[in-house]
Amino acid sequence: MKRAAFSFLSLSLGISVLGAHRSTPIAASKPLPARPLERAAGSLARALAAVMPRATTTLSTDAGDVDRAALRKKVRREATGTYISDILLERDSSVARWPDRHGVPLTVWIQPRSSVPDFEPGFVTQVREAFEQWDALHLPVRFSFVDDSAHAEVHVRWIDHFDEPISGRTRWSRDDDWLITDGNIILAVHHYQGELLDEDAMRAMALHEIGHLIGLDHTTDTLSIMAPRVRVRSLSDADRATARLIYSLPAGPLN
Ligand SMILES: [Zn+2]
Repeated sequence: MKRAAFSFLSLSLGISVLGAHRSTPIAASKPLPARPLERAAGSLARALAAVMPRATTTLSTDAGDVDRAALRKKVRREATGTYISDILLERDSSVARWPDRHGVPLTVWIQPRSSVPDFEPGFVTQVREAFEQWDALHLPVRFSFVDDSAHAEVHVRWIDHFDEPISGRTRWSRDDDWLITDGNIILAVHHYQGELLDEDAMRAMALHEIGHLIGLDHTTDTLSIMAPRVRVRSLSDADRATARLIYSLPAGPLN
């Protein structure tokens, strides 16, 4: 399998977790105004139009025959309750995902210690919990933790803060077939402006970044963990449904 020479930067740059103080309840975060329905409908219509069949031909690829018309039909049928349309808009109607690992988990190393001021070992626990929440979906990509970074396929590291208004970043690479080959996550201990992240916020941020790691992209649904500005603290039904739908599709373009 040929591997693309470039590294793909996931669109995770907008993340910023609110309610960063330990004593700040999530409900104290100022909610975003509701998304106008007509805008949502327009967005969905555009996305679904993008996966509407242009011609009902069966295309042949190196990976075998892929009936893209049938895939687009499946996506249209199963899009309800997901934000697959948001992702397809960002990805030029292509699905990026890890290959089916046939029960072999991805090895994940989480940096266990850090000299970053205010770093707490509890952050490591929160990131592990975040991986476990995604793992509970039993997708074709599962996770296991390793102590040796040299033997890990995924690395999670800590920094003090980013030099831009984000709190986490995920970079992954894919091959020519849109299969993700490796990924790394960086989490900040402090917000851009210096506020310390609490453990709940750290877990939410990790949930968001792991979403990117498995191939999800941002959604306009502010009640989901994949909103660019994370305002919730756990996976939504839409997060789960979108991940399941992606992993029921082959990687690659739907058009
Ligand atoms: Zn993001």
